[in-house]
Amino acid sequence: MVPIDPIRIVLVGTQHPGNIGSAARAMKTMGLNHLVLVAPRRFPDPEANALAAGAEDIVQQARVVASLDEALQGCRFALGTTARDRAISLPEHTPREAAAALLEHTADGGQAALLFGRERTGLENDELMRCHGRVFIPCNPDYASLNLASAVQVLSYEIRLRRLELGQLPAKAPLMAEAEPASIDQLERLFAHLGEFMDEIDFHKGRSPDMINQRLRRLFLRARMDEREIKIIRGLLSDAQRLLRQVK
Ligand code: SAH
Repeated sequence: MVPIDPIRIVLVGTQHPGNIGSAARAMKTMGLNHLVLVAPRRFPDPEANALAAGAEDIVQQARVVASLDEALQGCRFALGTTARDRAISLPEHTPREAAAALLEHTADGGQAALLFGRERTGLENDELMRCHGRVFIPCNPDYASLNLASAVQVLSYEIRLRRLELGQLPAKAPLMAEAEPASIDQLERLFAHLGEFMDEIDFHKGRSPDMINQRLRRLFLRARMDEREIKIIRGLLSDAQRLLRQVK
């Protein structure tokens, strides 16, 4: 079991269950798993599971509570996301600053919350007042309201970036195990082998090999080959030579 994340995503009064599923999916892609739903209008609902698309575990684990106070229990720090300015004055954060603050406040084992409002009306003033700050995703001033799950995605991504920066997540495993870069003498042996092969197939036909050799060198040096790649090319040349010698 993956431990529950110290940063909880709190969706307040969500109207469409599909948005809960999409938010869960957005969270899971970024490695978050702690979802709290305050008085969702329709939940549980098949639409939430349908849109979770592989993140149903996050939906199923979601804690449903009746009030924001319950959702914030145990948290030391909370930020509220808003699509527009409100009358109340609160420190304003960019998503990047918000991620840094959330991680800072959970660094010593504490818990923190990030709040998202209703699709139509957002967070109420008294809900925002419980927060230490608000977060605004910079966007087109003429159309500043993102879909709820899109807003969750942006913030979750920033949290992931910050965790990567802090070295809290394992870096992505390379697709193939890296081989050592080839040394100059390995490359020289490859060029010699190639020269031998070209002679055997009479590639130059009496012309000077210099220009071709220079170009081939340039090509192979540009490729910054590793040891394994050199082995593959030399294996290929050796096999071709073996077959040639059989026909000759
Ligand atoms: N008309 C509502 C929009 C709500 S959109 C309003 O004015 O608040 C649903 C939720 O998505 C918002 O409550 C907020 O949590 C989040 N959201 C949408 N756009 C956002 C933005 N530009 N910055 C931060 N949060 C945003």
